[in-house]
Amino acid sequence: MVRAIVGANWGDEGKGKITDMLAKESDIVIRFQGGSNAGHTIINNYGKFALHLLPSGVFYNHTTSIIGNGVALNIPYLIKEIHSLEEKGVPTPHILVSDRAQILMPYHILQDTYEEARLAGKSFGSTKSGIAPFYSDKFAKIGFQVSELFGDEDALKEKAERVCTIKNALFVHLYHQEALDPQKVFEELISYREMIRPYVCDVSAYLYQALREGKNILLEGQLGSLKDPDHGIYPMVTSSSTLAAYGAIGAGIPPYEIKEITTVVKAYSSAVGAGAFVSEIFGEEANELRVRGGDGGEFGATTGRPRRMGWFDAVATRYGCRIQGTTEVALTVIDVLGYLDQLPICVGYEYNGEILTDFPTTSILEKCKPVYEYLPGWKCEIRGIRRYEDLPENCRRYVERIEELIGVPIKMVSNGPGREDIIYR
Ligand code: GDP
Repeated sequence: MVRAIVGANWGDEGKGKITDMLAKESDIVIRFQGGSNAGHTIINNYGKFALHLLPSGVFYNHTTSIIGNGVALNIPYLIKEIHSLEEKGVPTPHILVSDRAQILMPYHILQDTYEEARLAGKSFGSTKSGIAPFYSDKFAKIGFQVSELFGDEDALKEKAERVCTIKNALFVHLYHQEALDPQKVFEELISYREMIRPYVCDVSAYLYQALREGKNILLEGQLGSLKDPDHGIYPMVTSSSTLAAYGAIGAGIPPYEIKEITTVVKAYSSAVGAGAFVSEIFGEEANELRVRGGDGGEFGATTGRPRRMGWFDAVATRYGCRIQGTTEVALTVIDVLGYLDQLPICVGYEYNGEILTDFPTTSILEKCKPVYEYLPGWKCEIRGIRRYEDLPENCRRYVERIEELIGVPIKMVSNGPGREDIIYR
């Protein structure tokens, strides 16, 4: 059975915690898209971890953690992340990396950095991890697949030269920076060979066998629906699909094997980077929610940047769930909202005198104003509660109103960052 865990919003919904929790019953956890540009924060018996590239299953001895072909693979970063776990006493995890994954190169990071600087105030708010140049190169067919490290060296050298010719047109003439040296690029690639060798695997063949044996498999998404390059707030999106459907491609499994899609929904909104955000709040109101939010405040796991904050957006979340093909929702960080006298829920978007309830395209979205309804607060601490009936009535009303608005069953309510802080319904 394959289950995908994905986000309905702008990312940072708490997917890491839900994956870490569900990984307990899983044999395999797979990252299928993105790279080290977003992070999951996980708190468990070993401590607090910010994982960027490794799947959230790495804390269990019985799980195999896989980097699928759809991931932007930064090899030194991966090795560093594996070592950082070992340093904190986590037993060495079983990790496999797809032989079809492509390699994120140092020049992708340079290009990302140069491009952000060139765009200055008009930038996309990139984490400068090289993700956009990486995926551009993949689809321009000038990327390096892991398998190529183990092929013919002369062919690799010749390709490094070809790639540098293209890159240097940009580096020298557009960015006015130093040209790449093809020999150095080649040597870099060769240095990656031994680093990655112990992990390389024909992942789709491995998963084909695992599925035949009835193994439990989790696909772990990064970011959320609204950052999807096709269905999100283009162009303020990420560069690989954040949707569960892409899990089939980015891991190499048949799409019909994805039986459950657990979409993680945040009880309020947060976003990083630029782009329309209709229910955004500002000033002191935003700051209070930011400081109370998540575990230790809403600040980026990779960059430490303060996240943009907002109230729950039912229009965006209903769309986010629909586009994922959600079968159940995990509603997270609801414990954070106990300080509010009343809870605003964005139920519509005002646009040109009309009220929209379907999530529009970006050009319209930028002109939308939120329409709120308000529910009474519960004004108490709800961490530690384990049964749904024991939640304060106003908290249950909030959960049930959200469920009604998004049209998908909320099966899990997360009321704290720890593994045990979860209420099943
Ligand atoms: P992800 O990228 O979707 O995994 O999300 P992040 O890890 O960036 O952000 C989620 C943050 O919220 C992390 O710091 C989690 O420890 C924390 N978190 C997850 N679920 C809950 C919850 O129910 N309550 C609280 N207070 N924090 C939570």
